[in-house]
Amino acid sequence: MEVLPLTPRGYCHGVVDAIALAERAAVDDRLPKPITILGMIVHNRHVVDALAQMGIRSLDGPNRLELIAQVERGTVIFTAHGVSPQVRAYAQRKGLTVLDATCSDVTRTHDLIAEKARESYLILYIGKPGHPEPEGAIGEAPGQVILVSSIEEAEQIQIDAPRIAITTQTTMSQWDTAAMVSVLQQRFPQAEVYNEICLATQERQEAVARRAGEADCVVVVGDPRSNNTQRLAEVAEQVARRKAYRVEDVTEIDPKWFTGCKRVAVTSGASTPTPITQEVIRYLAQLQPEDPTTWNNRRVGEPTHVLPKVRL
Ligand code: SF4
Repeated sequence: MEVLPLTPRGYCHGVVDAIALAERAAVDDRLPKPITILGMIVHNRHVVDALAQMGIRSLDGPNRLELIAQVERGTVIFTAHGVSPQVRAYAQRKGLTVLDATCSDVTRTHDLIAEKARESYLILYIGKPGHPEPEGAIGEAPGQVILVSSIEEAEQIQIDAPRIAITTQTTMSQWDTAAMVSVLQQRFPQAEVYNEICLATQERQEAVARRAGEADCVVVVGDPRSNNTQRLAEVAEQVARRKAYRVEDVTEIDPKWFTGCKRVAVTSGASTPTPITQEVIRYLAQLQPEDPTTWNNRRVGEPTHVLPKVRL
């Protein structure tokens, strides 16, 4: 099959910085042990497994406050998604050594929310329920930030406030967000809009919107928990109008998806290791959907090192 690799795709600066911080921590003898990451450093299982092999454990759970409650000693790493001030304060009270891998783009949104809250704004935050980034951002001003996650919620929300600010999670779909902002602005004309979708997310989505239509279908490589990965699949289907398949790695590909397909576009989420995407591209390039002898040639590459190259 012909493969159309879309660019840019894969690792963004925030993900590379977060993983580099964790890798350096693993070899730093001065840091108190154990080293614990509060959640997944970035939403990718391969990365979490690779860090576990370096002796760093990642906790999993519904929210960061519950996770920090489980850490009794050593060093704690905050993930690229950011944490609320309450989690920071809790870590300090426990006497933990803290390493902060929050992406600078997420920090900017936290600062904006804190500033608007001080100025007595009510803040409408467009984001994904249950994701750690809204949890941290909303925690900047509890009681002053309301999560909006759909058009229906934007249509139905009942508020009465003279000053309203609308802002966003960094990894939302530009198109979904624009639709929600439009509804909110019609209902609350006084609202100020601060679009916080990060540049890395915008560029990856725009590449899909612009070029995925040149292929018959799209494969999006990334973890099911990665919001920006899920949004790329959504953009492929809703904006480029191409069937999209999200896979964690090459083992999840079903050759039958591509019956009648001549050209497949490939992209990947901002937390997806480059070698995992390359393996998918190599597999698809040799795949002939009508020839079953090509279906099982999955591990076509050498064993790969999934972490980005960093100077330790
Ligand atoms: S997707 Fe954007 S906000 Fe998230 S880590 Fe990457 S650059 Fe930062």
